[in-house]
This record gives sequence, C-alpha cells and structure tokens, in this order.
Amino acid sequence: MKKIGIIGAGVSGLTLACLLKKNTNYDVSIFEKDDFKIKNINGIQISPNALRILNELNFSSFDQKKLCKITGVSFFDHYSNLKIAKMSFEYLSDEPYITLNRSDLINFLINKFSLEDHIIEKEVLEIHEKSILFKDKKKQYFDILVIADGIFSNLRQKKIKPLYSGYSAFRGVFIDEKQSNQIDLWMGKNFHFVKYPINQNKNYSFTLVKKIPYIKNILNYDYEIKNLKENNKFYFPNLDNIVFDDLNIKMWPIYKLNKIYYGHKDAFFIGDSAHGFIPSRAQGAAQAIEDSYALYNLIKKMIFCLQNFLK
Ligand SMILES: Cc1cc2nc3c(=O)[nH]c(=O)nc-3n(C[C@H](O)[C@H](O)[C@H](O)COP(=O)(O)OP(=O)(O)OC[C@H]3O[C@@H](n4cnc5c(N)ncnc54)[C@H](O)[C@@H]3O)c2cc1C
Repeated sequence: MKKIGIIGAGVSGLTLACLLKKNTNYDVSIFEKDDFKIKNINGIQISPNALRILNELNFSSFDQKKLCKITGVSFFDHYSNLKIAKMSFEYLSDEPYITLNRSDLINFLINKFSLEDHIIEKEVLEIHEKSILFKDKKKQYFDILVIADGIFSNLRQKKIKPLYSGYSAFRGVFIDEKQSNQIDLWMGKNFHFVKYPINQNKNYSFTLVKKIPYIKNILNYDYEIKNLKENNKFYFPNLDNIVFDDLNIKMWPIYKLNKIYYGHKDAFFIGDSAHGFIPSRAQGAAQAIEDSYALYNLIKKMIFCLQNFLK
C-alpha cells in the first residue's frame, strides 16, 4: 500500500485526506504542528464549486443550522453609508454560496472520516526528496508528499517568499438581533469592512481590512487586539443592533506569495502554501478545496507528475 504524507491539517490537507480515505486505500498520515482541536470562531466562505466537492464528502449531512446559504451581496459606500450596488445569488439556489465557521468545517472533515487516528501532532522541519524531517530529528519516508502547511510554509524553495502586503485584517464575531442571509460590504479608501452570517443562530463574522504599513516581521495568524474599536471607530460602519466585542477581535497581517508554487519533483503543494489568498478575495478555503480535489484526481489515477497537476 502506498504511503502518503500530508503536512498541515488545515482545510486543504484535511479535504485531500478525506477524499483519499473515502475513495482509495492509500495509507494516509497528516502531520500538524498545532493543536487542531482549538476552536477558531471566524467564518469562511465556500463557493458552489468547492461545495460540489464537499458534497462528494457527504457534506449534505452537515448540520444545516451551522451554515448560511447566502442570497446576495450588498455594497455600501463607507462615507455616506449608502447602498451603491447589489448582487443577487438567487440563481445559485441549487448549488448555493455558503458561509460557516472554519472550525465547524474542520471538525466535520475530521469526524466524518475518522481522521483523528491519522493526525500526528508533530512539526515538520524539512523535507528531503520524499522524506520528512521532524522537529524531534526523526525522519520518515513516503511514496507521495503533499505540503498543505499554509502561507508561512518553510518547506518551499527559499526563493518563494511570503511578502507583507501593507494591509492587515481584523477579524471577529458578533451577534445580531436579526438573522440575515446576506453579505454586506463597505468600501472606502485603502480599506474595506465585510460582515456575513455564519450560521442560523444570528452569529456573524466580520473582517476589516486596512492599510497598516509598519507591520513588517509578523509571521503568524491571529494576534490579539484589544483597542481596535477605540482607535479605529472611524472604520466601523454605523450599524444598528450590533455590539462589537473588542476581546474577540484578532489581527491577521496579510501576506501574499511572490510566486505561485505548486511544488517540485517529489512534492506537491496545495492551498495557501501554493498560492496564498488575501482575505478580501474571500476564496482561500474554497480554492484550497479545489486544489485538493485536483490533486486527488491525479493520485487516484496513479499519476504522480507535477506537470499534470499544473494543467
Ligand atoms: C488558525 C487558523 C485560522 C484561520 N481562520 C480563518 C478565518 O477565520 N477565515 C478565513 O477565511 N480563513 C481562515 N484561515 C485561513 C484559511 O483556512 C486558509 O486560507 C484556507 O482555508 C487554506 O487552507 P490551507 O489548508 O491551505 O492552509 P491553513 O489553513 O493555513 O492550514 C495550514 C496548516 O498547516 C499547519 N502547519 C504549518 N506549518 C507546519 C509544519 N511545519 N508542520 C506541521 N504543520 C504545519 C498549520 O498549523 C495549519 O493548521 C485560518 C487559518 C488558520 C491556520
């Protein structure tokens, strides 16, 4: 039986692991440096293409109260607070555009396919051809290596670098009195603010993207931020019924890769480690799912060639 090593238990690594576990008899191991059970409460957006792939993983059994089928996007001018445009998603009613909590999707994938036994909590230091060197200096060999370790991957060739974009995202959640199925987006100079529901319990996720030129050296997600509201009242649109809890707000510096990188001879890169996606495009998770599906289709046919993956 061929051995597949996946580095990273994020959306891309787990989706690939589920597809392989459901449809093949490869021996799959997933290596994750952080505690994958920690709950992250922010929302992610899943496009119809990605949802079609999740449906192949029995996503129709996912608790429908824990997701939101988006009916459209409203665009507002931040200065006047006036609605300037509206995009309807009604035409997607059969295959909707959905939003949900990232951790709920992660937990669904892990539980539905009993992946807990396949996830090994170990940090990968280096890869050499098809072997992995761990932080504890142990080494393990695989037939296929898949790197799904996010935008800050240390396993790419050195010339591929994450560069700070000059913008940071502030993310958090809040409760509204009204349940909506809409994404609302406020646009201003050098920033935007987006809010959307993430379930049927009036929980919303928001992301404020704004220019913060002085952050140069942070290489991580989720920095605690306590005083965003005091210092940045200006950026929050005037919304009724909403209380933003400062303690729930995390800062997320936005990086992008200087080059798209899908791998080299012995290793495939998928998800954010291959391309990174700035949050204002809201497609990081959806693209990660599509990458996993493309690679799974090659592995299923025993095609282990990067050129085919690039097509
Ligand atoms: C903690 C966290 C919270 C996030 N929250 C949101 C959110 O609220 N909204 C949103 O739109 N997107 C969020 N994202 C990003 C979003 O999930 C990704 O953009 C997208 O889903 C692509 O996923 P990915 O699997 O390619 O990468 P990621 O989601 O970044 O997953 C990469 C995984 O690899 C692990 N890893 C990294 N290096 C190593 C190593 N050397 N050895 C072993 N494991 C390693 C990381 O711990 C991580 O679990 C979050 C990502 C993380 C890690």
